[in-house]
Amino acid sequence: MTVFDFTRFRPMEVYDCHIHFRLREKDSGELESLTSKYTEVFEKARLSRIYMSAGNLGLYLKALDPSRYYIGLEIPSPKKKPDWYRFIESALESGFDGVGEMGSKPAPRAVRVPLDSPLFEGLWSSCEELGFPILCHVADPEEFWSEDTCPDWAKKRGWGPYGADYPTKEELYEEMENVLDTHPRVKVVLAHMYFMTADLERADEFLRSYDNVYLDLALGIELMYNISRRRDDWRDFFIKHRDRIVFGTDIMPWQSVEEAVTRVWMLRMFLETDEEFYTPPSADELLTRYEEPFIGLDLPEEALDKIYRENFTRIFGRGPKSLDVSKARRFLEEQGDDFALKVFEKALESRR
Ligand SMILES: [Zn+2]
Repeated sequence: MTVFDFTRFRPMEVYDCHIHFRLREKDSGELESLTSKYTEVFEKARLSRIYMSAGNLGLYLKALDPSRYYIGLEIPSPKKKPDWYRFIESALESGFDGVGEMGSKPAPRAVRVPLDSPLFEGLWSSCEELGFPILCHVADPEEFWSEDTCPDWAKKRGWGPYGADYPTKEELYEEMENVLDTHPRVKVVLAHMYFMTADLERADEFLRSYDNVYLDLALGIELMYNISRRRDDWRDFFIKHRDRIVFGTDIMPWQSVEEAVTRVWMLRMFLETDEEFYTPPSADELLTRYEEPFIGLDLPEEALDKIYRENFTRIFGRGPKSLDVSKARRFLEEQGDDFALKVFEKALESRR
C-alpha cells in the first residue's frame, strides 16, 4: 500500500461529515471485517469523529463506539405520508444525530419524489422544530446531463447522461430552495458543495441568501477541478465563508483502505498546501477525469479548524448524541429491521 505522509499536514482534529456504511443481510458474515476496515481507515487517515450515513446500522456503530460516531437516519422513499414527527422524534431519542445522507440524486420523473413534495411535508418542519440537521445530496455535476461530457464511470453506474425523462439541474435546485424558503431555520448540509463549483458567484449568492445551509467538500472530483481553475477567487470564498464549509469525503464500503485514505489525503493537500498535484494512482475510479492539476488553497489555520471541526460541531453537536438502548431497540422493532436489531444486540453484548 502506498503510504501517505500525513505528518506533513497540521496536527489538527479532523471530523468527517460524509461517510457511508452499509451491508446487506446476506453479507452479514462480513460485518466484522467491514467494521475493522473502517477503523483502519480512520487511523491511517487520522479522522477523529465521523458522521456516518448507515441507516439503522448506525445504531450498531454507535453501540460499538459511542464517542466516535454521529449517525444519520435513512429516510424511506414515501409512498404515502408517514407520521414524520413521530419518526424523527423517536430517531432523535434513540440516538440518531441527524438525517442523511438523503437526497435528490437525479432519477426518472416517473419514480422520483421531489424534496418539496407534499409527501415530505412534516419531515422538514419536524427537523426544523427539533433542531435535527440534514445531510442532503441535490443534483449532480452538470456534465452528467450530456452524452458528450458525462464520464464513463458515471454512465456505467447509471448516473447519466440524464435525458428528457429526468429533471433538469435547475428543477432540482428549485425544489431544494422551495424547502429552504418555507423552512428558514432547518439546518441543511448540502453534499458535494451543492454541485455549484462551476459558478462561484452563484454559490456566494446562495450562501448569502440562506443562513442555515452549509456546503460539504465530499468529492465530486469536479469540485476540486473547478475550484483550481479559479483558485485565488475560490480561496477568498473559502475564507469569507469559512463558517459554512464542512469537511467530508464520501468514503464507501466498496473502496479499499488505500482508496479511502487517498480521499482524505487529496482533500488535505487541497486545503492545506499551495502545491499543484494530480489524482494519485491509489485513488478510486470516481476521482479520475482530468489532465490538469489541482492547486492547493493553502488556507489559514483558523479557517481550517472551522472546516475540519468547528462547523461540524455547531451543526451536529459538541459530541455524538448518547444512545438510549431501550428506545433504540424499540425503534428498530417498529421498523421491523431484524437484521439491524440482531447486530445492534451483538454490539451491546461485546461491550459487556
Ligand atoms: Zn454520499
